[in-house]
Amino acid sequence: MIPEQVIEEIKSRSELVAVVEQYVRLDKRSGSNFFGLCPFHSEDTPSFSVSPSKQIYYCFGCHKGGNVIHFIMDIEKCSYVQAIQLLADRAGVAIPEPDDEAYRKRSELNRSLQTICLEAARYYFHCLTGANGAPGREYLTKRGVTSQTARKFGLGYALEEWDGLYRHLLTLNYQDDLLMKSGLFKRGKTGGLYDLFRHRLIFPILDAMGRVVAFGGRVLDDSVPKYINSPENPIYTKGRHLYGLNLAKSSRKNCLVMVEGYMDAIAMHQAGVDNTVASLGTALTEQQAQLIRKYTETVIIAYDADAAGQPAAMRGLDILGRRGIKVTVLQVPEGKDPDEYIRRNGPERFHALLEKALPLLDFKLLAARRSKTSGDELDIMAYQDVACQILAQEENAIVRELYANRLAEELNATADTVLREIERRHEDPDAKHAPRVAAPHLVQPASRPASETGQLDSQVTREEIYLLCLLAVNPDLWDQIDSKPATGDFSPGPMQEVAASALALASRRQLDPASLIELGSGFQVRGRPVYELLARASMKLEETFGNQEMAAAVNEQLRRQRLNRLRQEQVRLNQELSATDDTNRRQVIRQALREVTEQLIRLKQN
Ligand SMILES: [Zn+2]
Repeated sequence: MIPEQVIEEIKSRSELVAVVEQYVRLDKRSGSNFFGLCPFHSEDTPSFSVSPSKQIYYCFGCHKGGNVIHFIMDIEKCSYVQAIQLLADRAGVAIPEPDDEAYRKRSELNRSLQTICLEAARYYFHCLTGANGAPGREYLTKRGVTSQTARKFGLGYALEEWDGLYRHLLTLNYQDDLLMKSGLFKRGKTGGLYDLFRHRLIFPILDAMGRVVAFGGRVLDDSVPKYINSPENPIYTKGRHLYGLNLAKSSRKNCLVMVEGYMDAIAMHQAGVDNTVASLGTALTEQQAQLIRKYTETVIIAYDADAAGQPAAMRGLDILGRRGIKVTVLQVPEGKDPDEYIRRNGPERFHALLEKALPLLDFKLLAARRSKTSGDELDIMAYQDVACQILAQEENAIVRELYANRLAEELNATADTVLREIERRHEDPDAKHAPRVAAPHLVQPASRPASETGQLDSQVTREEIYLLCLLAVNPDLWDQIDSKPATGDFSPGPMQEVAASALALASRRQLDPASLIELGSGFQVRGRPVYELLARASMKLEETFGNQEMAAAVNEQLRRQRLNRLRQEQVRLNQELSATDDTNRRQVIRQALREVTEQLIRLKQN
């Protein structure tokens, strides 16, 4: 929405060292870089570096990095646009109001939807506390929710009628079309609207800023579906919110407790655990992890025992881990959910459980052990295999060794053998594929497919990013490369978009780390923003290689990428060949195959 040249102007007027120094004391110099104590993690020796020449920052401790806009996003915990606005204010640059008609309409719609949601929340609340609200109040009493707690969460009640909310909003002169967009209504056969929620307890879903964006509704008896949620609308996207975060963010405790559902979160807050949020589903999303990271580095998972061990829940925990969030897992005894446990045993016993939450690794090993136990019998072969695999994924070598000792005792093996097995698996996935010249751990190996969230992740992608980094760190390299890279040398999809812009700049010798980082904004590899990886690589490469070596590295990397592309093409053509009976088509494919094979041979001879 903000014009490109305005962003450029803001960046050029926001000198990174000056901006950073408003937050961090940079008093140590090493080479051309400044160092200071990192504002994003706690440390005693400075590992936060700023390069005045590259206009990028990178922390060697917590791996945060980026350009001046990312720094403001990280430190002010704000969005990209907010960061630009903040920098513009400080630098005295005026951002033109978008005179774009579509933009104006969209923000008007969003404002209207916000008012409708707020008005609906008020209506449901009045229904709950009013003359006809007895069914809702009785249900809350049965579940032990006080009226004070109900008010804190803005709980409401949808009356047992077809159009209570609809008639209420009509009195405020809202049009049907707009009301439909809120997701709170359905259209009947005759074209009239009726309420989505009827005879249900209502949970307003608020965003972190405390604005009502959606609703959940629970039946008051045993009928199904137990819960319904209002659908996505222009102001509400599923998996982007955490229920209760608007309250939990002002808790004094420096961690968040994560539960599954509305009632769990409410019970926890009432029991004094005021830092609780609900994920509304066991599978945490990348967006939720990102949101959490804004507020804390520590999360205690308090799902019920069955749910926590499920693969979807486990993946969610790994998403948190990859964002550098320390995860511990609470074990609620006898498979109960937290709400039930608190009601039976009281808040004190629950607080004691919180203290005993298991570190994520312990929990994973425990879950593995359980899954490989049938009856009383532990399948030790299967268990040792899974356990070694779990520990091999741990990045910290000391932690691996500590757990290896414990696992050895469990398995009656020597610590040495167990550790060797873990280390072998830890090193292997990387050693087989990584480029010979790669900076260690530039990106963690990935196996999940690309998704629409801007997730770039394959082994190939990490190497491709690395290639772009090399070109950005040293613009003169372009002249030293035997055959210039092209967009087609990169993986199709978002990676090619990044590459196209980067290569255009590189061919004009204008690619530098800060602009490459900018191009990578919005993309992720294994849950980390691409700009962090780029920042890290840019900071490290120069120390790792001389000029000659860099040119060799680029040539080698390009060759590997082309080999890969050609091999993929070969496979694809062969598949097509075996799938078609059309003689002409077969001839065309054969010709294409011959060309690909020739190119492969030529490349291999180089
Ligand atoms: Zn740091």
